[in-house]
Amino acid sequence: MKGGDGGDTDYKQGILPSIIQKLARVNLWHFVWVSVILSEIFTAILNIINSIIFYGKISYDLLLIGVIDAFFVALIVSSIVIFLIIHIREIEKRAGDKLRESEERYRRLVELLPVGVAVHREGKIVYVNPAGAELIGARTPEELTGKSVFEVVHPDYHEVVRERIRRMQAGETVPPIEEKFITLSGDVIDVEVAATPIVYEGKPAMLSVVKDITERKRVEKETRRYLEELKRANRLKDLFTDILRHDLLNPVGIIRNATELLLDEFPDREELKVIMRNANRLINMIESAAKLSKLESVQELEKETLDLKEVVEKAIEATLPLFEEAGMVVENRLTEPLHIKANPIVEEVFLNLLTNAAKYAATGGRVVIDGQIEDGSIKIMVKDFGPGISDEEKERIFQRFERVDKGGVEGTGLGLAIVKRIVELHNGKVWVEDNPGGGSIFWVELPRGEE
Ligand code: ADP
Repeated sequence: MKGGDGGDTDYKQGILPSIIQKLARVNLWHFVWVSVILSEIFTAILNIINSIIFYGKISYDLLLIGVIDAFFVALIVSSIVIFLIIHIREIEKRAGDKLRESEERYRRLVELLPVGVAVHREGKIVYVNPAGAELIGARTPEELTGKSVFEVVHPDYHEVVRERIRRMQAGETVPPIEEKFITLSGDVIDVEVAATPIVYEGKPAMLSVVKDITERKRVEKETRRYLEELKRANRLKDLFTDILRHDLLNPVGIIRNATELLLDEFPDREELKVIMRNANRLINMIESAAKLSKLESVQELEKETLDLKEVVEKAIEATLPLFEEAGMVVENRLTEPLHIKANPIVEEVFLNLLTNAAKYAATGGRVVIDGQIEDGSIKIMVKDFGPGISDEEKERIFQRFERVDKGGVEGTGLGLAIVKRIVELHNGKVWVEDNPGGGSIFWVELPRGEE
């Protein structure tokens, strides 16, 4: 910030007494000749006085010896002094170089800083770096030097800034504040300012570091707005979910029950079968959508100690009619209790996987359930021998409404999304692999949790 010259003077005053400094700047040859001539004159005068006192006349011999003597003494003394001066100059030069180097380094650093740096004294800007100039819309820093800081600070903040300066002058440390500046073109910008008192060019001043936070403020405002919108949308979604569950499920249930009665009477009527099938589909869809929507708004589930073996057994029991209808057998190889901390909703995971196996893998004729206890988790597999799932579909099927048509089997495309969400809420994993014997293996890995 400061030029090299100003810094030099300050430094010397700190190191050497001023007389030596002045000596250090004397031209060395002048020094030699002046000291030789002065000592010659002095010795000559002294010898003349001496010879007059002692001999009553001027003794030229004594004068000559004295002058030669003085010449050598002056030469030796001035050589020593010259040696000292050269040495002092060397030390001074090195110190000066170091100071200039460090000042240059700091100057460059400040000039390169992406944030604005300004020094002001008595309300006037005395230094500003290029980033600071750019922030205010000046072409060069010089355009701002000499201006009042209150031309830059927004009028709403004049009082605050005055108060901060007063507190800093009283020795208080003030925290950074967010305020507003006015650029040279009249635009209002949001800034964050950190300030501290400093000594600049030998006099007290204030150093301010200014960061443009207009963009951050804009993003914060946008985020707040989005959050509000999101909350509104969420409330709307909850309302819609309630409407789905209560107001749609009831009439569809009535349609299904009425159709069931009609089918008892007219079992061969195709139209009634179509109504029945679609009413069932609608009920499944409403129930699944409501379930998923609820699960998505939940962040955590209450957990209790459960035996996964029992959970799987219950799911098998519930889906047995489906397997019988599909002509499939279920082979449960779980033999040991598998204790885990989980929410009873995990049963839904196995209900879905087993229902899918019955729906999509009937051709395989059987489904195998097995498990593995790992270090901190339990892995359960549901293996079928059906058509399998292609590599492109393996991830996609876990997303909501992603279905792959398998010979007209009906579904909502929500089952595996529900599975995934429940497993995620237990910090577990679910994935599908190819069954080497043909078909698919669905794996569910759940952490055991502390018991
Ligand atoms: P839905 O069964 O309602 O279509 P899911 O999310 O349960 O929805 O399944 C998504 C898709 O994954 C299904 O459409 C089906 O193509 C495929 N799928 C699921 N389980 C199996 C399986 N055991 N074998 C073959 N394909 C399956």
